[in-house]
Amino acid sequence: MKGVVQRSTGSWYRVLCDDGVSRDLRVAGKVRLHELNTTNPIAVGDEVTVSTRENGGEKMIEDISPRQNYIIRQSPKKRGARHILAANLDQVILLVTLAHPRTSTGFIDRCLLTSAAYHIPVVLLFNKQDLLDPDSKIGKQQQEYVAYYRSMGYDVLETSAVESTGIQALEDVAKDKRSLLIGHSGVGKSSLLNALDPSLDLRTKEISKKYSKGVHTTTFAEMFPLPFGGEIIDAPGIKEFGVVDFDKGEVSTYMADFLPYVDHCKFANCLHVNEPNCAVYEAVLSGDIAEWRYINYLRILEDIDEAKAW
Ligand code: GDP
Ligand code: ZN
Repeated sequence: MKGVVQRSTGSWYRVLCDDGVSRDLRVAGKVRLHELNTTNPIAVGDEVTVSTRENGGEKMIEDISPRQNYIIRQSPKKRGARHILAANLDQVILLVTLAHPRTSTGFIDRCLLTSAAYHIPVVLLFNKQDLLDPDSKIGKQQQEYVAYYRSMGYDVLETSAVESTGIQALEDVAKDKRSLLIGHSGVGKSSLLNALDPSLDLRTKEISKKYSKGVHTTTFAEMFPLPFGGEIIDAPGIKEFGVVDFDKGEVSTYMADFLPYVDHCKFANCLHVNEPNCAVYEAVLSGDIAEWRYINYLRILEDIDEAKAW
């Protein structure tokens, strides 16, 4: 029997099996794990084979199918270690807010870069529209970002979980796909999941604050089937999105706004930092590439240097 991992807690995995039953299973000792050197050898979204032997033994995960794709990031717990966020994805839904809390474009761009390198499309979702005055500084900033990311070819949605705006557009995007939902804690992931499927009745942050400290709040990724088809994997509270396994030279090739210029630099191996006659840098000076994108690019190169030092 096959199944899909819905939740992973380390030694136990919740598997939605082909017979429609969710089971908490352990991994048989003989399972050959993929050699990715990660802190979690089996990830949410993995397809597994479950043993059906009934001779008194418990059901166990016996094999993991090869992954179509996966997203890896630096482990939040262990510096230098890698952690698979989720496997076998159709898309990433990147949920951000420019206020309450503020998501930086640096975080957005790291996430876009990682997804592009894994060939996974991203839908960018700006939530909490109800809090935003379009004429305020932040309101104008958001309009700039939305237009810029759209011009790069990204699908961008604007939603409010509180006023239920943009929810139908989100449903259209999520329908019949397996999406990984990424965003800082507090941007409204649980609220939007509840808006998509009220029967989920997920706890949102404000409510959980009222409970005592003892209440268990999950820090594990979890897959939710959607009533209209498809699944969303909620990856709670991502603070940082460390870029792993990149060569500095390939970063610009995943940035759609840099791409028209990279072949016009004087040096074929130009990193667009301080080389002479750099077409990318000239595009920044002329305003064709946004300055904030270029700054984020330089920081990503620094991240890679840092990661290599470990
Ligand atoms: P999560 O940590 O990403 O799951 O965020 P939650 O869904 O728990 O939401 C965090 C807080 O933001 C809660 O107090 C929500 O009520 C609030 N919130 C979520 N979406 C919106 C929105 O669209 N507008 C406003 N004003 N508040 C929102
Ligand atoms: Zn260059």
